[in-house]
Amino acid sequence: MRTGGATKEVDDEQTQADRWAEWDVAHCWHPFTPHGGWTDPLLLAGGEGAWLIDAGGRRYLDGNSSIWTNLHGHRHPRLDAAVNAQLARVAHTSFLGYAHPPAAELAKRLVDLVPGGGLERVFFSDDGSTAVEVAVKMAIQFRQQTGQEKRTGFIAFENAYHGDTMGASSLGGVSRFFERFRAFGMPVTHVAGMEDLRRLPDAQVRETAAVAIEPLVQGVNEVRVWPAGMLRELRAWCDEAGVQLILDEVLTGFGRTGRMFACEHEAVTPDYLCLAKGLTGGYLPLAATMTTREVFEAFLGGPEKAFYYGHSYTANQLGCAAALASLDVFAEEGVLARLPRKIDALRDGLAQLAHPAVHEVRQCGLIAGVELRQPDGERFPAEERVGERVCRAAREHALLTRPIRDTIVVMPPLCVTEEEIAMVVDAVGKAIAAACK
Ligand SMILES: *Cc1c(COP(=O)(O)O)cnc(C)c1O
Repeated sequence: MRTGGATKEVDDEQTQADRWAEWDVAHCWHPFTPHGGWTDPLLLAGGEGAWLIDAGGRRYLDGNSSIWTNLHGHRHPRLDAAVNAQLARVAHTSFLGYAHPPAAELAKRLVDLVPGGGLERVFFSDDGSTAVEVAVKMAIQFRQQTGQEKRTGFIAFENAYHGDTMGASSLGGVSRFFERFRAFGMPVTHVAGMEDLRRLPDAQVRETAAVAIEPLVQGVNEVRVWPAGMLRELRAWCDEAGVQLILDEVLTGFGRTGRMFACEHEAVTPDYLCLAKGLTGGYLPLAATMTTREVFEAFLGGPEKAFYYGHSYTANQLGCAAALASLDVFAEEGVLARLPRKIDALRDGLAQLAHPAVHEVRQCGLIAGVELRQPDGERFPAEERVGERVCRAAREHALLTRPIRDTIVVMPPLCVTEEEIAMVVDAVGKAIAAACK
């Protein structure tokens, strides 16, 4: 964001950007990042709507919603004003033994928002991982306090991703992330799908506390979509088996699939609903684990019954204020009503990608993945880092996104326009052509 025309000023800014890059390379340790080739970091210094602006003033469309969080765009006036107004009151107060207005209001609004009305209790934390961690610990303690101590087992799905804390990563099934920690976490049975689940021995099912799933689509599993009706079948299986259902809507929550929550597509109510990423519109780290009266009542009583879990920044006031403003934007700007046309535009656009390396396009709402393979259908050798090279080439066409292996994630903020979608698709096509010769 250069301001003046004077060469000296520009030079100073360039020098400053170089210094930041140098300090980053020298001192920052980035998540999910192989640091071997980390030499020229892109410094993102600003944002506006669906666009990000780097330290040199170049603009890029935020093609993965700043790692799947942003909904209404950057510097949305409604959210900015809400966070500023909250700052004028207080930034953070403890939620351990105290309450505050924005959390009370947000809890009430979330409970009213989830269809079915079965989830009436909201436990706040900070991130998707902690939202899942909370559900896991609640499920364990719930069994202990309802005379079902034997129900200690957990079931999750192959290639699932539920976050990186120890409990959440035990549920995870992506072997290149979690295998090395397997022996240190809790035991979890991973199944491929409903058929596999139904084949589990009765004795094991009777000792199962809960099953966790990313409803409708596994994002980190290279954007793989579950068969229609599967979620409803899973709920029915859980009811039959007396097993609780944890829905991880950290990615799918807040409109990303075309409805407010993915579970609405199949009219399913879980026992635990985990929300994070989009909860604050992508502004601040805040998460929520919603559960039923039945679960909450098992924790009523004295200190021996309490749920001893929480973080310093649990229910952060700025985060709650941003989340309330994000819900206002949904209500006032007809966000959900505008989605079908955008989803169709994305589908139609991606269907036009004609390069031989395009193996499959997978999409659920505004979540899409373009999987690249060799023309004979074999995966590219991992060391060729094809996905990474395509995303790097996309920068030259004003698009920022991040691959999962060789799947190019296309997940713009919900505020993206149809024109911007066309630009994104065009950039993906050009980047594939440039990187897959
Ligand atoms: C991102 C993600 C998580 C983890 O959330 P963090 O905020 O990164 O801890 C959990 N589950 C799903 C489905 C996710 O996409």
